[in-house]
Amino acid sequence: MKYIDQAEINRLLENNKKPSAAELKKILTKAKALNRLNLEEVAMLLNVSNPESLKEIFSAASFVKDTIYGRRVVLFAPLYISNICANNCLYCAFKADNKVTTRKALTIEEIKEQVRWLLSRGHKRILMVAGESGKNPVDYYVEAIKAIYSVNVGQHKIRRVNINCAPLSVEEFKKLKASGIGTYQIFQETYHEATYRRVHPSGPKSDPDNRIDAVDRAFTAGIDDVGVGVLYGLYEWKFETLALLMHIEHLEKKFNIGPHTISVPRIEPASGVEFTKNMPHKVSDDDFRKVVAILRLAVPYTGIILSTRESADLRDELFSLGISQISAESRTSPGGYSSGDNNQSREIQFTIGDQRSLDEVVASLLEKSYIPSFCAACYRKARTGEKFMNLAKPGTIKGKCSVNALITLKEYLDDFATEEVKKDGYRLINQLKNNLEPQVQESLAKFFTDIDRGIRDEYV
Ligand code: SAM
Ligand code: SF4
Repeated sequence: MKYIDQAEINRLLENNKKPSAAELKKILTKAKALNRLNLEEVAMLLNVSNPESLKEIFSAASFVKDTIYGRRVVLFAPLYISNICANNCLYCAFKADNKVTTRKALTIEEIKEQVRWLLSRGHKRILMVAGESGKNPVDYYVEAIKAIYSVNVGQHKIRRVNINCAPLSVEEFKKLKASGIGTYQIFQETYHEATYRRVHPSGPKSDPDNRIDAVDRAFTAGIDDVGVGVLYGLYEWKFETLALLMHIEHLEKKFNIGPHTISVPRIEPASGVEFTKNMPHKVSDDDFRKVVAILRLAVPYTGIILSTRESADLRDELFSLGISQISAESRTSPGGYSSGDNNQSREIQFTIGDQRSLDEVVASLLEKSYIPSFCAACYRKARTGEKFMNLAKPGTIKGKCSVNALITLKEYLDDFATEEVKKDGYRLINQLKNNLEPQVQESLAKFFTDIDRGIRDEYV
């Protein structure tokens, strides 16, 4: 597989080298100074198993998360527009040979109906998701994106549409970019070539190089926020984590910028799919905590996304280890929001672990003093790609992030939250306001007055 030196990864993992106390200290000091870790250092962290050293790794990850992202957690919802697929990924209910799944591609009107539902709950950010089908899928995606941005419910509109779809050509990516997408997201699934070929037996996805090259093509087409990921459970998790970082090193070398986000999906049960019942490399919760913490340390400026595949309890725990974005209230079937899909229909991709409503997720974040954020300001102010990194690294972005997160939280509380959540939310805002720099407090107060006067969607 291109860009992935499997022999080098195996060499790094071969002797299972654990760091000495001095080596661990050196690596964690480097990470806490917000420096990227190299593969050798990451391999040593992956091998740590004694509880005391693990505690040190988790505490360093929390430090990095708090230093760069503060207590903010960005919320979004996936929007599945089609479950028709030409591929046969062994783990997915949308695979072409799965007769259990009822197939559906939403019409533009049906897409708008889903968006109205999401807006009426308070969502502002959507991840559009589709199976791989048709000769010219990009025109459908572009129409769908236009439709999503066109809908409003009262004063509320979707502010950022990200997309997770199959690889496209540079020309097609240019069309996607012109339609106003935020991040283009694609998971390599597994970086282990033999496993990749085995679990993708037919269809366009069976070519691993076409998939890994899609990230390069997206950058080449000018999409500068790209999301990468591994589907944990297909192959050995330490190998996958090192390979993902090797992929990122390739992107950094070639484009001078890494991915905007990393996703860490674990395989979930999917109906009609034997593979998910008997997974060869199932990743335990303990190892999964390690993966999140070590990624947080290795690439401090890359957002880490956690989906509703994970249970509510584990999600709550992982925020402190480095998660910066989460989905909430997800349905994995096309049309699942307005139809009230209960996670069991014949149209879903996999069953989700966290079925709480957006309001419940917001409540649980507030309870732990995290700031639920619906901010999309950077993308709308063109602070993307290298420009974003140049602001993020010296910490310049932080003042803006605090203001924007609190504006979006107040909008959510005023317009959508239940009474109980409103109370907790206003209490947290009041606490946090006092810790801001005087200038930032002043700017926030002006925005809050505007919100009280009925103005929405202001940001810096
Ligand atoms: N069809 C496109 C593709 O495969 O790139 C894009 C969308 S696909 C619906 C999104 C992601 O869902 C895949 O990249 C894969 O990682 C994940 N996925 C598939 N089956 C899954 C399962 N059973 N459990 C958890 N995640 C799954
Ligand atoms: Fe199709 Fe994507 Fe599912 Fe594979 S993971 S079967 S490509 S929808």
